[in-house]
Amino acid sequence: MRNKFLPFSRPSITEEEIAAVGDVLRSGWITTGPKCAEFERKFCEYVGCDGAVALSSGTAGMHLMLRALGIGPGDEVITPSMTWVSTVNLIVLAGATPVFADIDRDTLMVSRDSIEKCITDRSRLIVPVHFAGAAADIDPIRQMAADRGIPLVEDTAHALGTEYMSERVGRSGTSIFSFHPIKNITTGEGGMFCSNDKELLEHIRRLKFHGLGVDAFDRHTQGRSPQAQVLEPGYKYNMTDISAVLGLSQLARVDNFNNKRTELAMRYRERLLDIDEILPLSDPSYDMKHAWHLFVIRLDVDRAGITRDAFMHELKQRNIGTGIHFLAAHLQKYYIESMGTHRGMLPNTEWNSDRICSLPLFPEMNMTDVDDVVDAIKDVLSLR
Ligand SMILES: *Cc1c(COP(=O)(O)O)cnc(C)c1O
Repeated sequence: MRNKFLPFSRPSITEEEIAAVGDVLRSGWITTGPKCAEFERKFCEYVGCDGAVALSSGTAGMHLMLRALGIGPGDEVITPSMTWVSTVNLIVLAGATPVFADIDRDTLMVSRDSIEKCITDRSRLIVPVHFAGAAADIDPIRQMAADRGIPLVEDTAHALGTEYMSERVGRSGTSIFSFHPIKNITTGEGGMFCSNDKELLEHIRRLKFHGLGVDAFDRHTQGRSPQAQVLEPGYKYNMTDISAVLGLSQLARVDNFNNKRTELAMRYRERLLDIDEILPLSDPSYDMKHAWHLFVIRLDVDRAGITRDAFMHELKQRNIGTGIHFLAAHLQKYYIESMGTHRGMLPNTEWNSDRICSLPLFPEMNMTDVDDVVDAIKDVLSLR
């Protein structure tokens, strides 16, 4: 057994990055400033989108998007239940109704068909998730949304570096990335709103800083015009330069990170192949490149004779950390009580919600760590 705990995720931070943060702290300008502007520019270059707005989190980006579209009571927003609860919470906080699309059982992706089943004349926004670092089949979804005139924002929190049809996810349309410490790059906390819609970008830029009619940071003078007027009530969701300088360095490393994640994932796949109780996710059949944000397995609970929760506990006893991405939102206490959601609504989501588990995956892991995880799994399942 491992004698040192292996967490399910850990950020990769260099001494140079720590020094760069120190430089910003010493510079006299630590909030939104030149580093944020440069991070936005470099992020656009990497992803291929026209514009980007750096934010304090991915959640902030979703909040601003709902606000920019004026979503409120009577409106419906279509999203998977197999997502991070932040999206669902924000929809409810806006007074709107989340409508849950089911997912593919083995890729955990929503599809055009599963989304189309949810459409009513109250549908005001569609939020598909590119799950675990793979790409959702976004072209048919985008086409359907456009045909029906319903806005689309892609949840790309898992998908920095992911490609779909040889194009980076986030290049087209509107998307929201996250830089939470477990994501493929981190700024501590942070997010990026990306779009090719100039008006929408301007609106988000305004909303993220009190609704003032100027950017939070004047790129030339490093100072906000004190005469700026509130054009509409906004929020306080700007990224700091302390975070952005970290983001700049992390972004330059993302391809290396993802290559390393891919190697580790391939090793997991190979070593898990002969364990019948463990079902990794499948690759989608369309053309895409995986960013391996997560290595998700499903435990065949019948065959294993142990619940997923007990399985995770046993791994922890063996010094292996794991995560759950995600517990179905529609089966959580508040949503059951307030919306009357229940088991049986979303069969593939529920099947996975009971069985999924994310194994340790981060760039500083090595192959021996992967082997330790697999050995611990075999030990738990008494296969040795
Ligand atoms: C992390 C995550 C978010 C939210 O990002 P934050 O930066 O933590 O607010 C949204 N959706 C999904 C699918 C995520 O994994």
